Amino acid sequence: MVWRFLRFFLFQFAGAATGYLIHAGLQPLQGAIVGMLVAAALWLIWDLRRGQQLLVWLREGDPTQFPAVGGLWSEVASRTRRLVRSRDKVIVESENRLQEFLAAIQASPNGVVLLDTIGRIEWCNETAADHFGFDPSRDMLQQVGNLVRDPLFAAYQAQGDYTHDVVIPAPRSDSSRPVRLSVHLHRYGEGRRLMMSRDVTMLEQADAMRRDFVANVSHEIRTPLTVLSGFIETLQTLHLDPGDRHRYLGLMAQQAYRMQTLVDDLLTLSRLEGSPPPRMDEWVDVRSLLQQCEQDGRNLSMMMSQMGHVLLFRLDRNCDVAGSRTELLSALCNLVNNAIRYTPTGGTVKVSWSIDPAGDAVFSVVDTGPGVASEHIPRLTERFYRVDRSRSRETGGTGLGLAIVKHVVQRHGGQLHISSSLGEGSTFSITFPASRVRPSRLASLSDSTVVSA
Ligand code: ADP
Repeated sequence: MVWRFLRFFLFQFAGAATGYLIHAGLQPLQGAIVGMLVAAALWLIWDLRRGQQLLVWLREGDPTQFPAVGGLWSEVASRTRRLVRSRDKVIVESENRLQEFLAAIQASPNGVVLLDTIGRIEWCNETAADHFGFDPSRDMLQQVGNLVRDPLFAAYQAQGDYTHDVVIPAPRSDSSRPVRLSVHLHRYGEGRRLMMSRDVTMLEQADAMRRDFVANVSHEIRTPLTVLSGFIETLQTLHLDPGDRHRYLGLMAQQAYRMQTLVDDLLTLSRLEGSPPPRMDEWVDVRSLLQQCEQDGRNLSMMMSQMGHVLLFRLDRNCDVAGSRTELLSALCNLVNNAIRYTPTGGTVKVSWSIDPAGDAVFSVVDTGPGVASEHIPRLTERFYRVDRSRSRETGGTGLGLAIVKHVVQRHGGQLHISSSLGEGSTFSITFPASRVRPSRLASLSDSTVVSA
């Protein structure tokens, strides 16, 4: 600053000195004053020019190029540039934060729509676009009510009570693939609204399944309970002869057994759902599995009638399968027992274990029973689904057997196939992947093609 003043005074002094020396028809003192005035005017013009240069740069200059103006203006330019730079930095930072914020909302599994004060869409994330079928480029600034036309949503929006959500079908929903959305509006800012959407299809289905399940279990337990209490009342009120008494107690034991198997099956299912998948390094000997199934099957067949069934068990090549013995036994025995239970006495049940050309193991149960009509087949593994309720109950079925089989098979990486036609018997088979099967260590000692016939 001091240097600038010094330069200014030096310039004035030089002007005064030049005027004093030249003084051209004036007194030397007057010449000095004129010289000083001329120097001041020149200084002013020069300074104005620099100011002008700076103004031009401020108006339309490149903010990254600093104008080469000198003097005081240079400092003004440098400070201005610093200000512009720090403001630019703030803008870039805010822009980055906004982009990060929008990216976070984009990543949300929920749909988010920003509505302006009159209900027009200002912004929406991809999930919301997918939920409501919005086109982010075409539908911006459209009234949300024109695009989401469900009457429930229209009423919800009009009422203005946003303390709860509303559940509506998604526009792409149809009867074969229903999609349900929970939509919740929230107020924010000055009259703006945030619309959040969530796909609740699975939740609603799970809720419906839970309700059905509880209703089914209650029904299944209530039936034998009603029978049991009827018998108890009879025994309490009537004097029965020992024969009748014995018969009634037998029937009561049957009902108690039915409840017990139902509870056992329910516990098995919940264990299957709640436990980690079986380990890959535990190997189960298939021959012993089949032997156990055969023994159970023969007992069941004998219990059903003296005549029994023709039961053929065949093991092509003994091997080990990786998984849980208890689970595998319950799945294989379930299929064998079903075949025996649903096949009239005298019928044939063929059980086999073989290895297919791809190395996968195939366990199959073929019966000559009544068969199942094709429309029932996809639903057989649902809990409590029965083609013929009375037949299932008569034979001690709980309606959970195939649901258990399906779970066990999935947990062992296998697949359950059912093929059947009405009146022509059924084939239930399980395929275990080659990775879960290995030749048995005992194979060479006792390999045989027929377990028993
Ligand atoms: P359930 O305890 O009633 O047998 P499952 O889950 O084991 O229950 O089987 C479901 C339904 O599938 C049965 O009620 C029956 O209608 C049908 N089903 C199962 N296995 C056979 C079979 N081998 N032959 C004919 N129908 C069968």
